[in-house]
Amino acid sequence: MQSLQVELGDRSYPIYIGERLLEDGDLLKRHIRGKQVAIVSNETVAPLYLELVLRALAGFSVTSVVLPDGEAHKNWQTLQLIFDGLLEARHDRRTTVVALGGGVIGDMAGFAAACYQRGVDFIQVPTTLLSQVDSSVGGKTGINHPLGKNMVGAFYQPQAVIIDTGTLVTLPPRELSAGLAEVIKYGLICDAPFLDWLDEHLDDLRALRAESLTEAIRRSCAAKARVVGADEREAGVRATLNLGHTFGHAIETHMGYGCWLHGEAVAAGTVMALELSRRLGWIDVGARNRGVRLLQRAGLPVVPPMEMQPEDFLRHMAVDKKVLDGQLRLVLLQGLGKAVVTADYPRTVLEDTLTADYSAIQA
Ligand code: NAD
Ligand code: MG
Repeated sequence: MQSLQVELGDRSYPIYIGERLLEDGDLLKRHIRGKQVAIVSNETVAPLYLELVLRALAGFSVTSVVLPDGEAHKNWQTLQLIFDGLLEARHDRRTTVVALGGGVIGDMAGFAAACYQRGVDFIQVPTTLLSQVDSSVGGKTGINHPLGKNMVGAFYQPQAVIIDTGTLVTLPPRELSAGLAEVIKYGLICDAPFLDWLDEHLDDLRALRAESLTEAIRRSCAAKARVVGADEREAGVRATLNLGHTFGHAIETHMGYGCWLHGEAVAAGTVMALELSRRLGWIDVGARNRGVRLLQRAGLPVVPPMEMQPEDFLRHMAVDKKVLDGQLRLVLLQGLGKAVVTADYPRTVLEDTLTADYSAIQA
């Protein structure tokens, strides 16, 4: 087992990573103060892993709340089901909410914990690669509004993050690839040596080799923990975690949620950010191609959707959270492992990037 710490003063917490951690009841119990626990999961994950967690929590008074699966259910109505479960079983302020599932469950259970009786403890037990390397760390919680994704929420840090790499065995390969997009992202924005490691171990990751998974997740969480430790509320450097995301969100929105997975859209968006950085002369063709090759080897799309025109991108990108005073700030690279957030690029270079022929990139 590997462990590391997210340093946030009195809100610091550990991340544990390893195989079969769900069977280790002591690990979970160490971070539970009271006698009550509410496990929040969904219809897909509960049949696979709820029993294991229940067994680990023998002796506690446990309520299970099993939600419908999917981003479409990340809303008020579903959040209410968590409060229903907590109140019906009379959970008090010393209860602990355990989020067992992917990012949708983690974001919703975390937000419920932030709100229930003005805040109760919660523990993240992420079961998708994306949630293990990204959403379970950093304290962003929330739900969607019909008018915008993740528009209602809170910063609320967990007591601990427990990552059992064994849960990835049941994850659909497409979801695994989507998580790899975020893993590769960390190398590109702040850890160039990690890119060398990924060059060597990407096939092991896709083959779910436990040791490689643990190492990739550890390095990804370490990168995220560093960035979040420096800028919890995204006043500056935390925005670099959004490499490829502004282009990616435009793809997700335009194609309709669920058509492209988030990680897939981020992959194509990352290629666009690499290409824009190259056109600015900040990275060379070789660096761009290295990023593209890794994404490709991870089984991810590296060409934006054919049907999207430059105007489509510009329209969707204009509503990005990173627009400040009408200026569209983008995360770009000034080298491998060196991301910057900037609005300081000529508009024409952005437009050229949007009309580039990505199918011609031979990584
Ligand atoms: P998800 O939670 O929808 O999970 C993907 C699918 O895999 C679901 O059908 C889920 O039921 C299933 N699943 C989960 N674990 C499984 C397992 N071990 N075996 C088999 N199936 C399993 O999607 P996600 O990619 O994990 O998370 C996406 C969500 O995370 C989005 O809502 C996004 O907004 C959010 N997010 C939040 C942050 C943050 O900082 N809070 C960061 C990134 C993403
Ligand atoms: Mg992301």
